[in-house]
Amino acid sequence: MRIPSFVKENVLLAPHTSWNVGGPARWLAEPTINEVRELVLWASNYSIPTYFMGRGSNVLVNDSGLNGLVILTSKSMTELRREGDIVVADSGVSLPKLSQFAAREGFKGFEFLIGIPGTVGGAIVMNAGLTVFKPREMTSIVKDFDVLNPDGNIETLTMADVKAGYRYTDLLNRQSLVLRARFRLEEEEEPSKIRRVTLEHLNERKRKQPLKLPTAGSTFKSPPGNKSAGWYIEQAKLKGTQIGDVRVSLLHANWIENLGKGSSEDVCKLIDYIQKTVESRMGVELEPEICYLD
Ligand SMILES: Cc1cc2nc3c(=O)[nH]c(=O)nc-3n(C[C@H](O)[C@H](O)[C@H](O)COP(=O)(O)OP(=O)(O)OC[C@H]3O[C@@H](n4cnc5c(N)ncnc54)[C@H](O)[C@@H]3O)c2cc1C
Repeated sequence: MRIPSFVKENVLLAPHTSWNVGGPARWLAEPTINEVRELVLWASNYSIPTYFMGRGSNVLVNDSGLNGLVILTSKSMTELRREGDIVVADSGVSLPKLSQFAAREGFKGFEFLIGIPGTVGGAIVMNAGLTVFKPREMTSIVKDFDVLNPDGNIETLTMADVKAGYRYTDLLNRQSLVLRARFRLEEEEEPSKIRRVTLEHLNERKRKQPLKLPTAGSTFKSPPGNKSAGWYIEQAKLKGTQIGDVRVSLLHANWIENLGKGSSEDVCKLIDYIQKTVESRMGVELEPEICYLD
């Protein structure tokens, strides 16, 4: 088998995730947009399982690693530009960078992205957003996006072409890579007002979220009803619960912190413990928001 020259072997994935856990990828590549089609066809040709990662801020990678090809977008697919009233962003562009870009161009509506440490591709697939403070999600700003299918074809889709809901799209079940996206610049605003709203978002996060230790943000989706997952976990008296070297944050009960030497197994065990305890004490089933890569 001829391995493309830019593909690396046995690369530890933990440093590529915000939880800082997970074993090695058999192969890892950070292709440019021009290289990625050849890479996907190579993997399809040899029936190599393929995984996509942006900034790894919503994934839990198995400790034993991934016996396949990981395509990482966050460093090599990062072009961002304005074309008239549209912003074009490659899938690896970081959300804070997109937020700041729209603000500089004098358009509001992107402020909510400032504190979400993911990429455009990961955020589209997850329909990332905010439910509290000033609710908004990707569906409200994406015009359309290109995906590369495993057969090498490129398709342009809108959010209406996919099933999208709360922190979910059915792209999660497809083997398609988001390549780039176009965003509408609709609502012009005074730059000082955009800066103020952006700062409010950041301050709100600093106040409520444990940002000093590795986490993946919210671990569980909010269940139906008006109470958050964090509220149920706190009511079940689980704040501070520790398994191995990971613990339920003392500041925000829906966040699991890696205290330093935590493993993917520790996180899985703690997730399982939280789900069982919340169900038995509160009668509520919590569904993980994070994506398992295994
Ligand atoms: C401190 C912190 C705060 C957070 N706050 C929020 C928040 O307010 N709101 C929110 O919604 N989320 C939040 N998150 C979670 C996370 O940042 C988002 O879900 C983000 O959109 C994930 O982007 P990513 O690039 O890191 O994706 P990854 O974690 O790398 O991947 C997530 C999923 O998307 C897939 N994927 C990634 N890139 C592509 C691509 N180009 N094509 C196809 N599939 C792809 C992966 O295979 C995986 O299934 C937070 C996380 C942290 C650590």
